[in-house]
Amino acid sequence: MIETVRYTYRLRPGRTAKAALLAEWGRCRWLWNEAVHQHRTRRKPTLCKLSKLLTEARGRNAWLRAGSQVAQQQTLRTYTAALGASFTVKGQGRPKVKKLKKALPSLEYTTRGFRIKGGVLCLPGKVTVPVVWSRDLPSAPTSVRVYRDNLDHWYASFVVKRDTIVPAAADGSAIGIDWGVKVTAATTDTAFDLPHLGHRRRCAAERAKAQRKMARRCRPKGAAPSKGYLRAKRQAARVEKKAARRNTHEARVWAKQIVDNHTLIAVEDFKPMFLAKSRMARKAADAAIGACKRELIYQGVRAGRQVVLVPPAYTTMTCSECGTRAKLRLGLGIRVFDCAACGYTADRDVNAARTILATAERVRASADDVRHAIASCRDGGSDAVRAGNPPDSSMGKR
Ligand SMILES: [Zn+2]
Repeated sequence: MIETVRYTYRLRPGRTAKAALLAEWGRCRWLWNEAVHQHRTRRKPTLCKLSKLLTEARGRNAWLRAGSQVAQQQTLRTYTAALGASFTVKGQGRPKVKKLKKALPSLEYTTRGFRIKGGVLCLPGKVTVPVVWSRDLPSAPTSVRVYRDNLDHWYASFVVKRDTIVPAAADGSAIGIDWGVKVTAATTDTAFDLPHLGHRRRCAAERAKAQRKMARRCRPKGAAPSKGYLRAKRQAARVEKKAARRNTHEARVWAKQIVDNHTLIAVEDFKPMFLAKSRMARKAADAAIGACKRELIYQGVRAGRQVVLVPPAYTTMTCSECGTRAKLRLGLGIRVFDCAACGYTADRDVNAARTILATAERVRASADDVRHAIASCRDGGSDAVRAGNPPDSSMGKR
């Protein structure tokens, strides 16, 4: 089996290459904004129409002709893809104007537009960029995206084909996962719990220091920012990014461990808004629950595991032993679940995880209830199964 993946490498562009890339980005950004304008004035831009307009514009303007046609064509292609997705993917807005000061540079090239020669990435206009080859490319890349992040670091993301990595054999066990704020993920087997990462909170003081520095060095509106201000801004961004990367890395390691050891993975279908409304919003955001969930579903589906998404309603209130639902909602401060009907006592999160697993197993047992939802790209997979009914519908008293 062959799979198509992205391999990303750090780039080390020199001063000339950086200037050339930014100039290229300026032209592509203009094209993107033109395409947005076409849509806003109800001219229904399709790739075909936009390509025609591009040809005309290149004929008229020498500055546009100076840029790479491949990059410009790809910008329009990306735009039409984004526009198409905005009609089909729930919650995705129409593509917006890319502002000079806000939008980060991103350029795409197909095989027609780039070459790798002697370990150096060669782009149109005699632009050569050294690549940090942190690992070998598994095959010749079919396209590349060259982009810059907010720390002024450049990357190249190559689309390559490789043999599907066969996951380790699982022993047929099942696991239920409940998202929380005390521990990021509470599971039915405490050995697999993901403790609260909280990297952002740990470095909050450092970031606050940089932000105070920014405030002190901030000039009135309209004046060009000072060097000290920009330095402090970069420092704040660097601290933030470092924490975010540690969160992502640890979530990946955890997800791999879960996927390697289980065949049925029952996940609470966590909606960030569910917690954001409470006082715990900040903690929830720090725990990066959304990213953990996405990573788990992605890895689980790719490894061919059965991933079941269970609606979060009533999971904390329902007894995992007898299925009775408590009359009152459990406050966030109460850590222990106590069943009034059968006297079962457990940690609040463990009980929720057990309820989630029980629901998923019931769904699996009765095939009629299984509904294959075509999960949107937000959920990170296409084969994740959603549990049809909330956990209380068939058990317990109303
Ligand atoms: Zn009970």
